[in-house]
Amino acid sequence: MSVPFFQITEGFTRALPLLEEGLAEFHRQSGWVNDQQVRAFEQAIATYTGAPHAIATGNATDSLIICLMALGIGPGDEVIVPCYSFFASVSCILQVGATPVFVDIEPGSYAIDCSLIEACITPRTRAIMPVHLFRQMAEMDALMDIARRHGLKVVEDSAEGIGMRWNDRHAGLIGDLGVLSFFPTKTLGALGDAGMVLTRDADLARRVRQILDNGRDASGLAQCLGYNSRMDDLQALWLRARLPELDQEIERRAALRDAYDLHLGPLGEYLQVPVTLPRAARQRCVDYVYLIEAQNRDGLAEHLAARGIGVEAYYPLPLHLQPVCAGPTHAEGRFPVAERAATRALGLPLYADLTASDVASVCQAITEFYAAAGAQS
Ligand SMILES: *Cc1c(COP(=O)(O)O)cnc(C)c1O
Repeated sequence: MSVPFFQITEGFTRALPLLEEGLAEFHRQSGWVNDQQVRAFEQAIATYTGAPHAIATGNATDSLIICLMALGIGPGDEVIVPCYSFFASVSCILQVGATPVFVDIEPGSYAIDCSLIEACITPRTRAIMPVHLFRQMAEMDALMDIARRHGLKVVEDSAEGIGMRWNDRHAGLIGDLGVLSFFPTKTLGALGDAGMVLTRDADLARRVRQILDNGRDASGLAQCLGYNSRMDDLQALWLRARLPELDQEIERRAALRDAYDLHLGPLGEYLQVPVTLPRAARQRCVDYVYLIEAQNRDGLAEHLAARGIGVEAYYPLPLHLQPVCAGPTHAEGRFPVAERAATRALGLPLYADLTASDVASVCQAITEFYAAAGAQS
């Protein structure tokens, strides 16, 4: 029995009639890009997250670049970022000509280790970019305190963070600016690329709107240098149909996580299930990826793939070791927590349509792998 890494069937079937209904009216709209469907979806996300300003974009990678541009961050500036993330967390910094300053992650949360941030601050530091990965956030109270004391901006890479909250604030609204990704495999996925910028600051919101639309203001005049990263109305229509199911799907993901925890608990000798840190009480965690750290991760991944089980190594190469980031201060061994995670972390299938029996099959295959390994040793 095969279990794909990602699949959407039931949610797709339920949202399809709403999409078809909207599409039937589509030709009557004045525009099909960054137009009325996009405004309606921005409003829906503003309501869901509590964001004073939710600005739709083409994707989260662009959103991060736009955030840095809106803050005027560029050549000569430094941005502090964890070295363990999806590549977009650092490419946005390089893209605007600024310098990334890497910090190791904290065991358990995979988020930036806040106790290491202050030692990295220089007169050129302009911003800190925490990344909310997999299911929980960095210690945001500590991070915001550091930012305040040093006069730094905070841009949250909350691309994976929809639904996550710190105290009562939604991910992306704790710092100055934050992003959301609606890439199809994310917790709320579009039918293609789509993203969002969230902010509490009206002036930053205005700048973000201009940059994503070729620098133009509401009257069409180019006020700054921007580029084209607008959301399609088609994606907005789909996402608006999917949004009402989000919280229910998040609950479903949590139940599946519990099932995985239960099945995999007895394998503690070989693998580590996701850790819940004590500060989880101050946040709402959202299980975007079920990430284990496994002994002989690559062997396990091969074993599962051969049985039709989709898995993904998150993230196999830390950012400081990516060829484009090569530099004298980025040598292997500098960030031991991230480097260890990179060789051991494995994402298992986790999505709303996954069944309890799918989880049981995945865990059965994992148990078999280590039973055989144990028998060999
Ligand atoms: C998915 C992701 C992105 C990029 O999102 P896109 O919408 O695909 O550009 C950025 N950062 C993190 C942490 C992500 O997981």
